[in-house]
Amino acid sequence: MLVAIVTGAGNGLGKAYALQLSKLGAKVVVNDTGGNRHGVGQETGAADAVVKEICSLRGKDFAVPSYSSVEHGDSIVKTAMDAYGRVDIVVNNAGILRDVTLKNMTEEDWNLVMKVHLNGTMSVTKAAWPIMREQNYGRIINVSSASGLYGNVGQANYAAAKMGIAGFSLTAAKEGGRNNIKVNVIAPLAMSRMTETIPSTADVIARLQPEYVAPLVGYLAHEDCAVNGHIYEVGAGWVSRVRWQRSNGIVFPKDGMTIDTIAAKLDVIENFDTDATYPTSLFDSLSACEAALADEKSN
Ligand code: NAD
Repeated sequence: MLVAIVTGAGNGLGKAYALQLSKLGAKVVVNDTGGNRHGVGQETGAADAVVKEICSLRGKDFAVPSYSSVEHGDSIVKTAMDAYGRVDIVVNNAGILRDVTLKNMTEEDWNLVMKVHLNGTMSVTKAAWPIMREQNYGRIINVSSASGLYGNVGQANYAAAKMGIAGFSLTAAKEGGRNNIKVNVIAPLAMSRMTETIPSTADVIARLQPEYVAPLVGYLAHEDCAVNGHIYEVGAGWVSRVRWQRSNGIVFPKDGMTIDTIAAKLDVIENFDTDATYPTSLFDSLSACEAALADEKSN
């Protein structure tokens, strides 16, 4: 029997993930503070309704609620341990929005979004980590966003948190791999109260549903999941992997690197058509520097 924690599972995508995982046989901790999409307010109804739905489909002990905010990862993990004695899957999904341009953003707008998305992801992961290491098994799915991966006007706080989640996850994947803890990232797209203000056609809205995202979470949470440290975009039934691409670049000779030579060679620095690579670690950067210097010496 596998045990899953899904944060922010009282609504939208998190609810679909909780239902998907319960269908796969997992017992689920349905975590949600029940606030509005700006993170204001608190009520138990959102988590309770999903617990009720899972228990009516699967059986009475298949889900328990947790009303803690994700910054208190210890409390959420304790709920899982008290109810089921283990944690195998964590889906760090809880989220809020405080959309505002950089010009108008307050420190509170920044801190609140960081607290829920980035600190929350870290807090729940860190609380589950020793348990997963001990049992040599874990599946963690962290939720990023295309806004974070590519940037989006009015979302500097949200984008920074979501890109932070990607960096956090790539590192956790490297650290967890040897203990069979797989950490992957999804950047979903689906209609929810978070996206209800984005204009779209009826056709698109019909396909942009959480049910077209949840199966990927099911796969990444599965014991047969074959990937670790990958980032996927997913929405409307479309799934695609995102990775870094780096141009081959240029090595300037000693004393030859100036503002003018950089400007003159910008097209080479920016050229992805010849010998571009797909780095996956810090060592890829170090070895690229070493190769460049070796190349310079041999000329
Ligand atoms: P949603 O608002 O429907 O659901 C988010 C849930 O998180 C809510 O139920 C909310 O009560 C809960 N929550 C908020 N703060 C919490 C906290 N501190 N602790 C516990 N629970 C908390 O939004 P959604 O669209 O389903 O988004 C889910 C996740 O997917 C978010 O991380 C969001 O940033 C991300 N995302 C969504 C989309 C999309 O298209 N909907 C796109 C990119 C990323």
